[in-house]
Amino acid sequence: MLRSVPAPAEEQRPKRSFAELVAAIYEDPRVGHETRELLLAVAYAVDLAKREDGVSPLKVARRKLGVHAGRARYDRLIANDAPRYELPYQAQERCNLGPACEAPRLRPYRPRPYKPRTQPELPEPTLIRKPPPPIVYVPDGYTPPRDWRTEDGVCGAGSHHRVLEKDPRTGWVTAHWFCKRHKEHAERVAEQVRAQNEAAPEPIPNAGGLLPCYFKADWEKVYRHYRGKFWEPPSYGLCADDWPAPGETRPLPSRGRLRMVVGGADLETEGEAE
Ligand SMILES: [Zn+2]
Repeated sequence: MLRSVPAPAEEQRPKRSFAELVAAIYEDPRVGHETRELLLAVAYAVDLAKREDGVSPLKVARRKLGVHAGRARYDRLIANDAPRYELPYQAQERCNLGPACEAPRLRPYRPRPYKPRTQPELPEPTLIRKPPPPIVYVPDGYTPPRDWRTEDGVCGAGSHHRVLEKDPRTGWVTAHWFCKRHKEHAERVAEQVRAQNEAAPEPIPNAGGLLPCYFKADWEKVYRHYRGKFWEPPSYGLCADDWPAPGETRPLPSRGRLRMVVGGADLETEGEAE
């Protein structure tokens, strides 16, 4: 069920060395290449601050990550790590035609038989070679639309109306798409899911939240600074380790944390103790 695995108490967490922390970051399947760079830069800076006085870890990490297109990469990477729920690709709004309409087909589809040529004096075209199967590149999380030719009774036209359905347990969104001719059908479906959507919980975050898994700091303040005023911390907590994993019974691994305390405008470190 949807229950967060209780995190081990802070004192029970194994204290990790710098090398173990780096290994844990590399082995974490949730960490993408840019987030990995951010985590490693912060780990390096925290380790440096333990050995040298007057070093502000987040400032060191910011300097190490450099600048891209006139903006410090650190700022963008921190904003990208803000915990949030991101809509799946299928549910995102389109400026062009959406996926295939999933309403029932208005007229049944009947494949038409091949018509023989009406000009017998012209020879039949010869197929020189069989064309290779096409290679289609798609973004992550893409599921192909339903094929109305094989799945009987589906409209399959390019769609314009999007109806979002929220999962009553996770708050995660599934999109249903309908074409212009099926506007009334779309309204009916929207009415059907209205009560369920209103009762659905806040969606469990599915992006970001990795910095708090490895480092202790006032991350809410840091994220709010780089993400802007529209970002709100999820009620499930900032740390991705604490989020309930739907349908997953495997206990989440406990992770050692290097402790870092962010105070005021200037960022300080307390080292690993306390
Ligand atoms: Zn349709």
